[in-house]
Amino acid sequence: MTLLLSGQQIPLWLTAPVDLSLGFFYNNGVALSVYIHVPFCRTKCVYCDFYSVTDLTATRAYHDSLLKEIQYHAKDVRCRDETIDTVFFGGGTPSLSSPAQVDRIVKALWKQFEHTQYAELTLEANPDDLTDQIAERWRDCGINRISLGVQSFRDSELVFLGRRHSSAAVDRASDLLRSHDFRNISFDLIYGVPGQTLESWRESLMRATELCPEHLSAYCLTVESGTPLHGMIARREVNLPDDELLRDMFFLTIETLTSSGYHQYEISNFALPGFECRHNLAYWTGRSYLGLGAAAASYFHPARWKNISDLSRYIAEVNSTGCAIGEAEALDAETMRREYVMLSLRLTQGLDCVDYAKKFGEDIRKTRSEIIGALIANGMMKRYDGHLTLTPAGMFVSDEIVTRLT
Ligand code: SF4
Repeated sequence: MTLLLSGQQIPLWLTAPVDLSLGFFYNNGVALSVYIHVPFCRTKCVYCDFYSVTDLTATRAYHDSLLKEIQYHAKDVRCRDETIDTVFFGGGTPSLSSPAQVDRIVKALWKQFEHTQYAELTLEANPDDLTDQIAERWRDCGINRISLGVQSFRDSELVFLGRRHSSAAVDRASDLLRSHDFRNISFDLIYGVPGQTLESWRESLMRATELCPEHLSAYCLTVESGTPLHGMIARREVNLPDDELLRDMFFLTIETLTSSGYHQYEISNFALPGFECRHNLAYWTGRSYLGLGAAAASYFHPARWKNISDLSRYIAEVNSTGCAIGEAEALDAETMRREYVMLSLRLTQGLDCVDYAKKFGEDIRKTRSEIIGALIANGMMKRYDGHLTLTPAGMFVSDEIVTRLT
């Protein structure tokens, strides 16, 4: 059963019958992850299709609405028995929120919800926004993980991408965070940028590892329709690297980072032991998450919903009803099965065949034996200890593999 509600702000569970017998699928009730969307950016990057606005005048009203939304959801039957294990301030540019605004949100969450003793609190930051005072205040608020939007250490690539910081700002930001005792720092990097070479990507990877972040995410640039980058490519003003170069960049990423002590735990994510991002792992392993703010998505098995992607409407709706749900769906068994395959194969621990059989009533090794056999013979997949896992070659074409398997 799939139900889509558009433009309504009434929670799905109040409006539609949901087949709770499907509740065996995910581990709800274990821990809750909270995502806070901060939809403000000083400028827009050419590749970005995240919801954000460059007019910062509504920042204060927006944060007031976030507090109201926290109160609303804290009373909800789905949230009230949950214990928060991770909070992630994402964006947009959360480093544009004042430390006082961050503090009010963290305090409101801790007042309304139980939380685990060592909850992970991540804030995404633009390297340019950091000052001594801000870093100190973040620590005081309880932020214990900073995700820096580094993207590249080549200034020409940063300029092309429309980033407002320079590579020198990353060095400064990293030093500053260390001086304030941040011991869990992540860098976001992008490869596949027009004009980027294998050498310039190697340089970015090496510069990143020299700063010793505990975690690195290395994403391949995707061209989203409606972005300025999409227009540039359509007009043939720039060209993307070809598949062969992208493949070399992906393999170089794995080789460089693993030889520097990071382990790959997801297709695009690498960590020093013990520093895997718990928040993202919650998404990938199908745990509950509550998204607050404009355009934020939530999942409580088997319902998924997304808030209104419009700042003014979001604020107006929260002010009048306490929440701002824009669309919702109840996942059917087939959708869950596909997502299970897709998400588990993204993780290097792979797909647990016994768990899959328990959840979906089929032994995938038998029902898809020909496809799996061919993938193993072609070096795309490996079998170990009751799991199926992708090799680096398989990870590079994971979307195709998931399509074939589902
Ligand atoms: S800073 Fe982040 S959210 Fe803002 S435009 Fe750039 S990529 Fe998008």
